[in-house]
Amino acid sequence: MSSGRTHDRITLISLPILTGISLLLTRNAELTLWMAGSFLFGGLMFGPDLDIHSNQSIRWGWLRWMWQPYRQAVPHRSALSHGPIIGTICRLLYVGLWVILLALLYQSACYFLKWPMWNEVQLWKTTQQFVIKHYSILLSIFVGLEVGSMSHYSADFLSSLSKKIFAEKKSVNPLRFETLNGQDPVRANNSKPRSSRKSRHRRKT
Ligand SMILES: [Zn+2]
Repeated sequence: MSSGRTHDRITLISLPILTGISLLLTRNAELTLWMAGSFLFGGLMFGPDLDIHSNQSIRWGWLRWMWQPYRQAVPHRSALSHGPIIGTICRLLYVGLWVILLALLYQSACYFLKWPMWNEVQLWKTTQQFVIKHYSILLSIFVGLEVGSMSHYSADFLSSLSKKIFAEKKSVNPLRFETLNGQDPVRANNSKPRSSRKSRHRRKT
């Protein structure tokens, strides 16, 4: 697994490259800005390592407590946090749950304090209209978040792969050890004529 610093470096180095690619593909500065901002947010604060106490969770400041239940529920490097697309969707749903919970708390407070309450039907309609009107921006935000997370998954995967290959090489190397005349030491020992071993034994006794 790559360190938090490595992930941060990858995010910062990739940012101008991705911004250029997005500008070339969309020819739209506004969508590119949303994508680049979300990529930066996804790489530094909304990434897969929110499933442990990491740089990403620390950056949430006093709001980092909200990731505590997520850390408890999601095992580190599981598909729910480190799975492509599903990881980002899970984190968005998780934040959505907090928003719904806070909205319910606010509604309850309004009810008891006799303040004007939200109309749920009107709120749902406004949300739908907002999504329809700004779907291209919302899609750019999702792409930015996902690409930010993808850079993390890829770095984790490559780091694990290189460690595995290195460990395999290490475990294989002793077997490749050969004697000076080019023979495997185990084979060389086994191929010695039985008679010579016996004679040595006799000499001892
Ligand atoms: Zn990770």
